[in-house]
Amino acid sequence: MITEVSGKKVLVRVDFNVPLDAEHNITDDTRIRKAIPTITTLLNCGASVILMSHLGRPQKKLNQDGTINKNKFSLEHLVEHLSTLTKTKVYFSEDCISSDAFDKSLALKPGEILLLENTRFHKGESKGEDAMAAKLAKLADIYVNDAFGTAHRAHASTTTVAKYFKPEHRSLGLLMETEIANAKKLLDSPKRPATAILGGAKVSDKIQLIERLIDFVNVIIIGGGMSYTFIKAKGGEIGNSLVEDSHLDLAIELLEKANDQGVDILIPEDSVIANEFSNDASYKTIESDVIPSDWMGLDIGSRAIQQYSEVIQNSKTILWNGPVGVFEFPNFAKGTFAIAQAVANATKHGAFTMVGGGDSVAAITKAGLENEVSFVSTGGGAMLEFLEGKKLPGIAAIESTEYVEQ
Ligand code: AMP
Repeated sequence: MITEVSGKKVLVRVDFNVPLDAEHNITDDTRIRKAIPTITTLLNCGASVILMSHLGRPQKKLNQDGTINKNKFSLEHLVEHLSTLTKTKVYFSEDCISSDAFDKSLALKPGEILLLENTRFHKGESKGEDAMAAKLAKLADIYVNDAFGTAHRAHASTTTVAKYFKPEHRSLGLLMETEIANAKKLLDSPKRPATAILGGAKVSDKIQLIERLIDFVNVIIIGGGMSYTFIKAKGGEIGNSLVEDSHLDLAIELLEKANDQGVDILIPEDSVIANEFSNDASYKTIESDVIPSDWMGLDIGSRAIQQYSEVIQNSKTILWNGPVGVFEFPNFAKGTFAIAQAVANATKHGAFTMVGGGDSVAAITKAGLENEVSFVSTGGGAMLEFLEGKKLPGIAAIESTEYVEQ
């Protein structure tokens, strides 16, 4: 990260998209805490720090009269906590590109913080609009992007804004650098055996990831709703389980590609099945390919747990993305928690383990094991796209040579 910032105004794009309760209290401040090293480093190097972020989807969740719910989605709710975490007074501007934002950033002294209001209050944000980005750029001398969670979006504050700063006046933040370094650890010469655990609802969301991982890992463990598309593709009976019929051929292609490259794709031998999608449903464990009609697989079974745990605990590099069952229902969370425990055990035995993707992070946190793995990524979609080999626009904008003088 750029650190020659003494006496400069630094505009930092952070990901402060934290959950708030009905009284606007922050219920999980992980994203704020992850941005603190970048903020304090810049402050300690003599910068004035101007922070911007989105919060929620204010344009999608409008008031009944069609206006933006400025109270619900306001970053002002974060000011006090941010001030506590940084031990610094935090000024606030109620519009990120107004004259108030401009005046307050002009008056900001080294060592001080100004937090701007939600960038998504402006439609130009999600459109990546030049006009909005140019106004944001006027607030500062240097731009730092530390919002890994939104690096896959070509928005005004994450991407477009960069080109209004000279290449030597823009950089990635510390969190971004850490996220990228960890993802690269996984992709560039991982210690073997390397295992990916992929769960979650749909195979369609993970196809590109599976295809790419076949080139990097030795074993791919499949769990969750997407297992049943593979099982049906192989001729199994899956009852009412989640399935994507349009992806059956693709599932076979993936299995064949993996086989050709000597990669094992493991599909759960047995499943915990339920007679309805509810925690209160009747349930039992059965082979995954003989599920009666009207029953659905909601978790991996005990034999799958045993097989998967052994593979995981013998691996030296592990990526985990997506729960292997409906872990939100306690009766169907056993598989996911067992995976979390196996990943934690592998870490204890020296494996490099990375958990990425919203729901698997929620699962490992629920299991109380988030500190027992090597790295928990803050980027759901962004991490997936990075691992798929896509160039993230937020990173590309920093690395490009494009510069627009204004
Ligand atoms: P994703 O966002 O694709 O990682 O999906 C996460 C969601 O998949 C979670 O909300 C889980 O409840 C859900 N899920 C996991 N296993 C199953 C399953 N067997 N059937 C239906 N949904 C599942």
